[in-house]
Amino acid sequence: MSHQARIDSVTATLAKPSRDVEFAKKNGRLQPVSEIFGENVFTFQEMSKHLPKSVFRSFMKQLQGNCTLDKVTADAIAHAVKVWALERGATDFTHWFQPLNDSTAEKHDSFLTLKSSFANGFGEVTAIDTFSGSQLLQSEPDASSFPSGGMRTTFEARGYTVWDTKSPMFIQDGPHGTAILYIPSVFISYNGEALDEKSVLLRSSEILTKTALDVLRLIEPTDDEDRPRVKKVVNTLGIEQEFFLIDRALYTLRPDLKITGRTLVGALPPRHQQLEDHYFGKLPTRVLAAISECEYELAKLGVPIKTRHNEVAPAQYEMAPIFEESMLAVDHNLLTMDVLHRVAHRHKLKALFHEKPFRGVNGSGKHCNWSLSTDCGDNLLEPSATPETNYRFLLFLLAVLKGLLDHGDLLRAGVASASNDHRLGAHEAPPGIISVFLGTQLNEVLNSIEENRPVNDDIVGGNKMTYVRVKGTVLDIKVSSLPSISRDLTDRNRTSPFAFTGNKFEFRAVGSKQSVSFPVTLLNSVVASALQEIRDALKKQMGDKKVASTEDQLVVIREFIKKTKAIRFEGDNYSQEWIEEAAKRGLPNITKSSDAFSRILKTENADMLKRLGVFTEAELQSRYHILMEKYAKDVTIEAQTLSTMVQQQILPSAFSYRRNLAEAGSFMNDIGVDNAPEKQLLQELGPVVGQLQQRTSELNTLMNDMNNLTETTEMGIFAANKLIPAMEAVRAQADYLERVVADNLWSLPKYNELFLNM
Ligand code: ADP
Ligand code: MG
Repeated sequence: MSHQARIDSVTATLAKPSRDVEFAKKNGRLQPVSEIFGENVFTFQEMSKHLPKSVFRSFMKQLQGNCTLDKVTADAIAHAVKVWALERGATDFTHWFQPLNDSTAEKHDSFLTLKSSFANGFGEVTAIDTFSGSQLLQSEPDASSFPSGGMRTTFEARGYTVWDTKSPMFIQDGPHGTAILYIPSVFISYNGEALDEKSVLLRSSEILTKTALDVLRLIEPTDDEDRPRVKKVVNTLGIEQEFFLIDRALYTLRPDLKITGRTLVGALPPRHQQLEDHYFGKLPTRVLAAISECEYELAKLGVPIKTRHNEVAPAQYEMAPIFEESMLAVDHNLLTMDVLHRVAHRHKLKALFHEKPFRGVNGSGKHCNWSLSTDCGDNLLEPSATPETNYRFLLFLLAVLKGLLDHGDLLRAGVASASNDHRLGAHEAPPGIISVFLGTQLNEVLNSIEENRPVNDDIVGGNKMTYVRVKGTVLDIKVSSLPSISRDLTDRNRTSPFAFTGNKFEFRAVGSKQSVSFPVTLLNSVVASALQEIRDALKKQMGDKKVASTEDQLVVIREFIKKTKAIRFEGDNYSQEWIEEAAKRGLPNITKSSDAFSRILKTENADMLKRLGVFTEAELQSRYHILMEKYAKDVTIEAQTLSTMVQQQILPSAFSYRRNLAEAGSFMNDIGVDNAPEKQLLQELGPVVGQLQQRTSELNTLMNDMNNLTETTEMGIFAANKLIPAMEAVRAQADYLERVVADNLWSLPKYNELFLNM
């Protein structure tokens, strides 16, 4: 197909009318989101309506971890959900799980069963819809084609998906008014090893919340207080999702975007994000249509999207939900990406989740807002009006600091990938050094306790109440007609990879494309481990007492403030001074993912994860291999794509231009006109084109060399140290040519065309 024919074909396909989704209306007006929220979810409420009381009660007991799910209960739930789903047009069901590839997997099974009857002597077949308790609880997809990092050679290929009872089932609309019942599940091997992201997240969250409860038991007086006794702690998570939306027709013409998710070549236009006019700017109409439709679909699935806005880079946006319990938040983030991808398609847009689709403008992250809550509704990271005497808050705060200090490199490994490397440390995103930002006020509180002196009121704002996030101090706007407003005293520090933001921590280094399951699993684990230390330190200090006195707590708090000083950093994380300072403090600076993965296997990290029961040795080995292999494959695919694009598109464009110039020059010579300009340009182009050809052939040689490697680690290191620099060298020449070759001969859509809202 010629280039023009290709463009014509894309244009024709996209010219067909898009299928608009009917928003539900009541009396001719759009229904409020609160009314459609969760309408496609088989919530616990919905379940209680459909089940006999005794069955529902035994399910609830199982949920609280008090017993296993028996067959009678499972059968009753299966029947109830089948009736509910059939009423909504469901034809199929699927276990929905999260294999180790940052996406979700599903295999549809229809409810259809054939029943033979020989009642009248003839074999007669009747079609019925069935769904049994055992089908609900477990299914067996072939595990052999999912990444297992070598666990399959040690264990059987069999894998099971098992319903995660904590995450409610839901239906997703299919074509022609049909629907599919989704059963959120974990995916484990024949021997119970995790083959997925979710099982380990659940394990980490269990050990974290259990240890948090242990600590609370030591410091909170029991029943006799006004406050009810905490029975349960939950791990809360709010995931902000950044992404780009670009025109799908143009996307289709960029092999690099299609194959690798990012542009491998592309010159920055003169205007991009320098004027800072995109952040919080008006959403383009087409984009708003797609995002609001996406939010509407998500609301039906019970995903509580709360905010949307234009991000810093052109064509970049963000959606953020109301926080939820961690595993539900993760499920919902994966659904958000999935629904956005599909809705964007309907609007002839393409959602790019890659961390760095375009060089030279900001990349995308997925900020994980993280905290712990009690069943009484208290946020354990809420500083309150007087954090300096809020020992419970301080103990939990210090657990986070200690966890990060001891295992910062592990968290760095949790966000490592070939794609996130282009973002981390690229002066817009947190660098490879993990540190924690607390804000001036909290920092002063910790310093004052450490130095055993009163809090310096000048530093904290002169008013103890200023810690309260919403009450804050009153800001003078100097306009009498405006209402007085409060301000937060935890300032923001955008450069920190891990920041305290008022009453939660925000882990900012997480990549936009990855599942947050793994980083959050690691975060939960390192904090659980530190909480165990704090628990043990309290016990030691308490001696025979049942409850730790405030003096006991203060001793432990002071001890941990001293121990964790090195992880606190309030300055500019992008500065050269910080790199030097961090080295002095002994904080690791891991700039390349290929160097980060092995931190998973480092003794201190691996022992901790095994001791907590979050990972087994085999699971850790498997993780390492999967991550390193994926890294090597990602880079190799990019290298191959780049080489092909240069040979099939970029060099031919340059050759055509040279030919045009040469023909023009020679023609002018024939008619006696000065051809110096054409000649000069040709002479300038020659060496660049030659360099491009040369660099590309070097890249090809390296790819051949890489074929001789067999060991995963070797391949990953080779990809990082050889292929990536070689690709850089190719790109430099290609981007130069993009700036000088005639536009009508350039076959790749350019950045200024891809940036929809420029
Ligand atoms: P900021 O403006 O500091 O980023 P927002 O209030 O906009 O803070 O919250 C950002 C995200 O953090 C949202 O998804 C929100 O639901 C989530 N969040 C707020 N409180 C908590 C919490 N206690 N635990 C987990 N996530 C939270
Ligand atoms: Mg935020």
